[in-house]
Amino acid sequence: MRDEIVIAQALNGTVRIHIARTRQLVQEAVERHQLQPTSAAALGRTMTVTAIMASDLKGKDEKITAILNGGGPAGTVLAQANGNGDVRGFIGDPNLHISRADGHLDVGAAVGNHGDLQVIKDIGLKEPFTGVAPIQTGEIGIDFAYYYAISEQTPTIVNVGVLVGTDRSIETAGGMIVQLLPGAPEETIEFCEKVSQDMSAMTELLKKHEELEDIVLEYFPDAEFLDTRDVRWKCNCSREHFMVSLGTLAEEDLLEMINDGQGAEVRCDYCNSYYFYNTDELKAILEAKRAGNRRS
Ligand SMILES: [Zn+2]
Repeated sequence: MRDEIVIAQALNGTVRIHIARTRQLVQEAVERHQLQPTSAAALGRTMTVTAIMASDLKGKDEKITAILNGGGPAGTVLAQANGNGDVRGFIGDPNLHISRADGHLDVGAAVGNHGDLQVIKDIGLKEPFTGVAPIQTGEIGIDFAYYYAISEQTPTIVNVGVLVGTDRSIETAGGMIVQLLPGAPEETIEFCEKVSQDMSAMTELLKKHEELEDIVLEYFPDAEFLDTRDVRWKCNCSREHFMVSLGTLAEEDLLEMINDGQGAEVRCDYCNSYYFYNTDELKAILEAKRAGNRRS
């Protein structure tokens, strides 16, 4: 089953539903960053919710970045997604394998609950929109629900899960976000409260139903499906991109690298790709920088 995000509305248009399957996306993150299970679950859940948030945007220039820093051993968990469905991300410590007594991965202990979830929405305006909410549990679903409630004043159910197999492969991954639209009547609020209490874990739902639409229909029998969008791992880094970054270094730092003759290796935090620049390329970067400085 390929990854996708389905967008629906229900209860006479008073509720909006986004549901995503992200198994391949999370698998790619595991391979790129060599993630151990709890790190995989933490980053996978964050990337899944961020991908859903970005599914209302348009094109590659509109993007959402979610940054969680709960003071736990995971460090910073960051995911970024754009309106094309391209998603990338990283986690401070990729090596975490922390389980609870019942055997479930303990994402809350990895992320921690002393810090903030920050969401930056860049839709090409002069200033991006930034919202912040304190992290509640570090389990990520609840943290995003709380973010929606306090930062965007939107009552929201967030059900997100990643099931990691014993061989570190991702068995299922996905998420579902249910939001009350402004002015939703009392019946809708009550209906959604019941859905929230009754809803099975996302990984269970993904195992039970092949089609995302069937998961939505299990809880919202009157759902109308509005759109289906692709979602995939994709990092937009490139040799040229990091050449520009090297050009922003101080002249003496570039000179030092040129003089030691070893070239420079740059790593992309998002996708763990390495780019190597030899001494001649560094000289060209320095020359271009000096020419640029003379012009300005
Ligand atoms: Zn990259």
